[in-house]
Amino acid sequence: MQNPFDQELQDRLVRYAAIDSQSDETAPASPSTACQFDMLHLLRDELVEMGAQDVELTDYGVVLATIPGTAPGPTVGFLAHVDTAPQFNASGVKPRVISGYNGGDITFPDDPALVLSPAEHPYLAEKIGHDLITASGTTLLGADDKAGVAIVMTMARHLLNNPDIARGPIRVAFTPDEEIGRGVSERLPADLRADFAYTLDGGQVGEIEYESFSADRAVVTVTGVSIHPGWAKEKMVNAIHLASKIVQTLPQATMTPETTDGRDGFIHATDMEGGSSEMVIKFILRDFERDGLAAKGELLRQVCAAVQAAEPRAAIKCEIYPQYRNMRYWLEKDMTPVELARAAAEAEGVAPISVPIRGGTDGSRLTEMGVPTPNVFTGMQCIHGPLEWISVQDMATATRTCVTLAQMAAKG
Ligand SMILES: [Zn+2]
Repeated sequence: MQNPFDQELQDRLVRYAAIDSQSDETAPASPSTACQFDMLHLLRDELVEMGAQDVELTDYGVVLATIPGTAPGPTVGFLAHVDTAPQFNASGVKPRVISGYNGGDITFPDDPALVLSPAEHPYLAEKIGHDLITASGTTLLGADDKAGVAIVMTMARHLLNNPDIARGPIRVAFTPDEEIGRGVSERLPADLRADFAYTLDGGQVGEIEYESFSADRAVVTVTGVSIHPGWAKEKMVNAIHLASKIVQTLPQATMTPETTDGRDGFIHATDMEGGSSEMVIKFILRDFERDGLAAKGELLRQVCAAVQAAEPRAAIKCEIYPQYRNMRYWLEKDMTPVELARAAAEAEGVAPISVPIRGGTDGSRLTEMGVPTPNVFTGMQCIHGPLEWISVQDMATATRTCVTLAQMAAKG
């Protein structure tokens, strides 16, 4: 460990990862789970202790704080989310540090069958000599996004301790429920009080992302005609058959998550439930472009209309709701926040990489709501599963990039 940030980042991530803060999309509350307050209260207290100003925990579950500026310049926000993904066991995380990784297969104490191999994960093969953090085999690690939290906290502590570093005011925000798409309250853009911001929620070193999916969700409700099956001849209309027909008519060999990558979007059937009298099918629609997203919605409507036309006694309803939009639409009008992050990475010897995110971040919504917010790397890998790992030195590179970014933003 040579970099002064390494030990602090390692200690913070190990400490934060052990705290259960999984979100739950089925829970209506905000934050969705009470356990997220364990993280939020801790971060609020630690920010107060390190001397941050305006520290508050809002009633919508976001910790906000100011690191006062030492030079004139725009106010820059740094965000990370405290929740961990609901897709995998995230309770009782036991973080484990592998000091000076030797380049071999990594095994896990709580699941001997599990192997993290550099042969299958080329990025791991680049990390020989690094200090790695993993979980113990039965849970995810939660580096998504506690690595982001650790990086923002370490940067905040460093800037507070070093007022000689010339930079403008910094706003820090820790959000709940990012993993279930509910991290950005209507009030956050105004409360953040930042000219532009960054989410620390990216993967490999160098990632500076300013394109996300544009996203809608759709709910198709199929209402059949219900009648006793013994007297059903020429009367019953079975909603299950019609719902199946809709799913069967939609593209399957193309335009699904499992058959697309890069810049191609998809229609994804996520849920189907009900019975012969009524069926509800849920979809998510994704595309990088507005036109492409609208076309996918139109295709779904046309399929529903065709099945409806063939069976007029049924009622088929297709409702489409907007979720978030590609942040590029706003960022491309003024690329300054993106260019600053790229320049900061380059100043730290890192080649910036900008690939479109096949998903959304808190920054997608924030950008749409008026706070331009690209996404910056943390180093996190194999997220949302038991193989999740991160290099402490990658986190340190992210932290140095943020400190440099804050200085460059003040210089303009
Ligand atoms: Zn995340």
